[in-house]
Amino acid sequence: MRAVRLEAIGDMTMRMVEKPSAGPGEIIVRVLAAGICGSDRHMYKGEYPTAIPVTLGHEFCGLVEEVGEGVSSFVGGELVTVDPNIACGTCPACRRGRPNLCANLTAIGVTRDGGFADYVAVPCSQAFTLPPDLDPVHGAFCEPLACCIHAIDKAQIRPGDSVAILGGGVIGLLMVQLARLAGADQIILVTRQLSRREAALRLGATLALDPTAIDAVAAVKDATHGGVDVVIECAGVPETLQSGVRMARRGGAFVLFGVTPAGLEVPVLPFDLLVNEVEIRPAYLNPFTHARAAAMVAGGILELDSLVTKTIGLEDVAGVVGSAPLAGEIKVIVRP
Ligand code: NAP
Repeated sequence: MRAVRLEAIGDMTMRMVEKPSAGPGEIIVRVLAAGICGSDRHMYKGEYPTAIPVTLGHEFCGLVEEVGEGVSSFVGGELVTVDPNIACGTCPACRRGRPNLCANLTAIGVTRDGGFADYVAVPCSQAFTLPPDLDPVHGAFCEPLACCIHAIDKAQIRPGDSVAILGGGVIGLLMVQLARLAGADQIILVTRQLSRREAALRLGATLALDPTAIDAVAAVKDATHGGVDVVIECAGVPETLQSGVRMARRGGAFVLFGVTPAGLEVPVLPFDLLVNEVEIRPAYLNPFTHARAAAMVAGGILELDSLVTKTIGLEDVAGVVGSAPLAGEIKVIVRP
């Protein structure tokens, strides 16, 4: 079968490898659609730890091709989405119900072979059934959506709340939709590209701001009588971390979602955080949210089609992952 292998940092190539067979408790999934994530680019550049050599691809959906010994919950031909993050279940974090903080976390498409391939082996406990007639491209959104749902849980948005979302990539545009569904009254997206601001307004944002053209902190405060109830940072750059904590109202919350390079220091003003009691709430991965993401995707209540800006084959994955995102790019989907 074909697989796109990260052979070394900066060295990714599609080649023929042996098709996996299902071990006990595993299923083999024939990949129908897989999303390229910013993390894939980080792994390619060595900025995020992987178990090289490895086949990348952690956002994917496909058909059950084969079931291994002891698997009774799936049959061949079912459409499934996969939660790639595998917690050990026994470390102190797992035993406290925090699998995303597992000390021994492994992940499909990161530390074991993933979905940029014709087939992938998956522990059956990581798979979730989707309706058979669902567009598999929508199924490939379950993983990023599951992470966003965890962030929305952390945000504790109440009906009528005001929310600022910083960064209008696929994550920011999913957050806009989730904030709307959570009942937010004002939803302000801050991002530099015009096409993304326009997309956000179509998807439920009430205001979209260009941080290069105006003072976004002042504009958010003006629009919300002093600051939003919740800020969700989805850009992972120093500017949005620094401006975001200042956009929260007194007693508001700042959800840290964007991934900054490890080791990066960003100055903030602890005194301001203290006297304004701005709560910093990190949201990492997808603890117990994949089933809810699958249900939302199956229910068709999110606009996903317009987030797909390009569809490619396996042969083009290395070229896309190995280069910077193009202007206007939101989500690139791989159809093996
Ligand atoms: P993305 O496509 O890179 O989107 C982030 C966008 O932020 C950029 O494309 C850019 O859009 C915008 N941005 C950059 N600088 C900005 C600034 N100064 N002010 C406002 N916006 C700015 O990435 P994504 O896939 O949507 O993911 C967003 C972040 O979430 C990434 O850091 C990703 O690693 C992270 N993530 C976290 C988790 C988790 O579990 N916590 C899970 C998945 C992803 P413009 O060019 O329009 O400004």
